[in-house]
Amino acid sequence: ARQAALASSEGPGRTADGHLVPLLANIGSPAELGDAVNARAEGIGLYRTEFLFLGRTEAPSAEEQRRAYRGALDAFPGGKVVVRTLDVGADKPLAFLPGPAEPNPALGERGLRRTRRFPAVMDAQLGALAAVMAEGLQVMAPMVATAEEAGWFAEECRSRGLRDVGVMIEIPSAALRAGQVLAQVDFVSIGTNDLAQYAFAADRQVAAVRELHDPWHPALLDLVAMVASAASEAGKPCGICGESAADPALACVLVGLGATTLSMGAAALPFVRAALAAHPLEQCGRAAAAARAQATAGEARAAARAHLPGLG
Ligand code: PEP
Ligand code: MG
Repeated sequence: ARQAALASSEGPGRTADGHLVPLLANIGSPAELGDAVNARAEGIGLYRTEFLFLGRTEAPSAEEQRRAYRGALDAFPGGKVVVRTLDVGADKPLAFLPGPAEPNPALGERGLRRTRRFPAVMDAQLGALAAVMAEGLQVMAPMVATAEEAGWFAEECRSRGLRDVGVMIEIPSAALRAGQVLAQVDFVSIGTNDLAQYAFAADRQVAAVRELHDPWHPALLDLVAMVASAASEAGKPCGICGESAADPALACVLVGLGATTLSMGAAALPFVRAALAAHPLEQCGRAAAAARAQATAGEARAAARAHLPGLG
């Protein structure tokens, strides 16, 4: 199966009937750029920038940040590079911006909530991004709960000359109000890791509740469908950058729900590319509808796979 997947993994991401779905890589450091290029990613769909701040008590210099962002843009000339602003807190603690002691860090001051309180950090990061501005550069914020937060972030970016601005949809309130969030930004990217955590109120770091936030669960698929429909109505892109996009069958379902790009760890790219190439868009849509009609994650997976015979 591995050989077959690799053999049919040439060219851009597309369904069997030629519907283009750019396949992008998630990276968390410059060292991973090479893997993304080798796996023929069409760009970076999620550049986690926490590495710049790891193990530090002082902010990285402007030059260091510019070098990191420029490196990613240089690795994908003509491609997209989606840089996510600092997502600190909860599962991503940093000595650099220590937060208050909180009983429930995942529900506390994390991501955009924390950086919004430290304007100098946001200013330096957006300034470095604006300094390397290039056609394919997109900037997005993590942990956005409301349209107001999306609007605030978009304004911060645009006032510095950044043009392609988005937010992650990883909190159910933002998914439920995706239309209003989308009115503020140019694109959205669904973070299914956190969206599942918050939809099922099941901490992603607690093994005992892991089964609850299976990304195949129809409740999560409903949220994805809601966001993708809102994006389609707004005529704006809706990416997926959570781990769910790395599962070839689920990737087909996400495209069937309306996702316009998929971003994943580089190792999964050939398999997702092959799965999409084996199924027309309409079949992905039928697999998605069948999955959503089920009651459990296991049933949804089985129902979808019955519609995706090309997966073997
Ligand atoms: C997500 O939450 O799905 C996501 C892609 O971001 P992270 O895993 O970095 O929180
Ligand atoms: Mg997240």
